[in-house]
Amino acid sequence: MKKLVVATGNPGKLAEIQAYLVGLNCELVLKPSELDIEETGTTFIANACLKASQVAKALGQWAIADDSGLAVDALDGAPGLYSARYGKTDQERIDRLLRALGTQSNRQAQFICAIAIARPDGSIAIQSEGICPGEILIAGRGTGGFGYDPIFYVPECQKTFAEMSAEQKHQVSHRGRAFATLLPQWPTLNPGNF
Ligand code: IMP
Repeated sequence: MKKLVVATGNPGKLAEIQAYLVGLNCELVLKPSELDIEETGTTFIANACLKASQVAKALGQWAIADDSGLAVDALDGAPGLYSARYGKTDQERIDRLLRALGTQSNRQAQFICAIAIARPDGSIAIQSEGICPGEILIAGRGTGGFGYDPIFYVPECQKTFAEMSAEQKHQVSHRGRAFATLLPQWPTLNPGNF
């Protein structure tokens, strides 16, 4: 069983990552809460690499990290890296985004997810990024998922993320696509060290 530290203190995120790595015979563990990593990168991939690398190096263990967010074209890519900090609750974040967009006709947006796996010395072993293009609705639809899901409409599925089953969201989402790119690289991780 391979041990991989998830560079998050959030058990929900660990469960989510676990679902994508099922069948790979690896055990995911949360990083210790006292180990705090500042997200100072200017891109999603930079932040994922920074978190994986610093956690791996501090603990001398393999680590995985992700970073994700929503970029809205008419808002010059906001909330982007600040998606999680755009408001105190999911509803406040959604309300702020809808207010900022107003009646703007360009509703194009994309969810982005970056993932990185670092070796115990902090060097990056593999990294990947997934993008899901969509549109911001005027009002939310659906009850599933989390975060901005109810207002994020995916034209190819004719549904918002919140109207999709977990399986369908996994297939088309930014996170699903990032893992789909990452998994074929998994065998390149040196099994002797891992
Ligand atoms: P982080 O990746 O944990 O830093 O959080 C990114 C933030 O982007 C989350 O708190 C959500 O607000 C938003 N986000 C990322 N992925 C999704 C998604 O799949 N659905 C809805 N919101 C998301």
